[in-house]
Amino acid sequence: MSFTSLGLSAPLLKAIKEQGYDTPTPIQAQSIPIILKRQDILAGAQTGTGKTAGFTLPMLELLSRSKTSQGHKAHYVKVLILTPTRELASQVEESVRTYGKHLAFKSTVIFGGVKINPQITALRRGVDIVVATPGRLLDHISQKTIDLSKVDFLILDEADRMLDMGFINDIKKVIAVLPKERQTLLFSATYSDAIKKLSQSFLRSPALIEVARRNTSSETVKQATYPVDKERKRELLTHLINKGQWTQVLVFTRTKHGANRLSGQLEKDGISAVAIHGNKSQNARTKALADFKAGKVKVLVATDIAARGIDIDQLPHVVNYELPNVSEDYVHRIGRTGRAGNEGEAISLVCVDENEFLANIEKLIHKDIPKVWEKGFKPDPSIKAEPINMGGNRGARNKPRGGNNNNTNTRRNSNSSRNANRSRSR
Ligand code: AMP
Repeated sequence: MSFTSLGLSAPLLKAIKEQGYDTPTPIQAQSIPIILKRQDILAGAQTGTGKTAGFTLPMLELLSRSKTSQGHKAHYVKVLILTPTRELASQVEESVRTYGKHLAFKSTVIFGGVKINPQITALRRGVDIVVATPGRLLDHISQKTIDLSKVDFLILDEADRMLDMGFINDIKKVIAVLPKERQTLLFSATYSDAIKKLSQSFLRSPALIEVARRNTSSETVKQATYPVDKERKRELLTHLINKGQWTQVLVFTRTKHGANRLSGQLEKDGISAVAIHGNKSQNARTKALADFKAGKVKVLVATDIAARGIDIDQLPHVVNYELPNVSEDYVHRIGRTGRAGNEGEAISLVCVDENEFLANIEKLIHKDIPKVWEKGFKPDPSIKAEPINMGGNRGARNKPRGGNNNNTNTRRNSNSSRNANRSRSR
């Protein structure tokens, strides 16, 4: 199958060619023709499947068709794309610009943590496509600095994450100001009951599209767990980085505080490191990511939400400094390595407190992850498991806006973590 046969016109085909894409990915092959028929879709697709082009290309195509037919030149918001994080919003808007390079549409990105005035100026000048996180968008709605009364398309990207982050009420408030006559596209990595409910209330006879989950425990990602005492994790990480002469490693911690502390400790060990999480300013996050990509810092320490949607190609090493309590997050984390057929290595430092998390992860991926007993780091068998403080990392928003964010509290007991796994994997 080629992009030409999907019904896209010359300016888009040219941009696709310039990106070097020959063949549509499965999500693109399925979603593009349906979206072009103006049908709503409910799509199960993760980051890395090509989903962004899967909705951006047909959206731009429809926009360019309607513009020609109506012959107007005014820029008003016709497309609203909602994403859970600032990083994802920026990346999606960048894709809109890339694919829309040979078309005359204007787009802008709206998120919190930065000054609102430049956003107001951009909106006042007129834009066709807005990519936004829900909180800041609501600020614009209440200040009447955005007019969403002519929106033709609503796209909810990573809807499951938005719900996890307590955005449900924000999303409802945004949808309430949109025209009822519109096309709605919902993308989500998982189908929870909450997603089904959301889609029933906001989509009209949607086509269901599901593409195969990226085979994350696949040949290209070598996985291992290193049993170690909690107090010695940092020492082991430094040892592994030095021993393996790793030059670029993404390290996951469960909490923002843990990310800060670890990056500081690594710096003390002489390893350049920077932390990225929801409490950092947008500029700090952008700089951290740029320095990491450019090889100026060896280690990027991230929380799950901050890392979500970050597209770093050919990442050789991912380390779970702490295992996630939500097993699905493990799959997302290790999906950051071994992309596009490149060998990647995902290792997890596991202390006695985390054995249950590990068991849940192995159940989810249907395999046992090999254990490596690093010389000199064998755990002390007399240390007993202790409760894990979740530290409030799951709700990465600075100020929850009335959302029912029940993930922010200490969630230790094993039943609740199992329940979390169940509800996320449905
Ligand atoms: P996404 O799932 O939207 O985050 O896309 C993942 C990556 O796949 C991005 O780096 C895209 O540039 C790339 N990509 C998207 N569509 C294609 C395609 N048809 N062929 C090759 N790469 C693609």
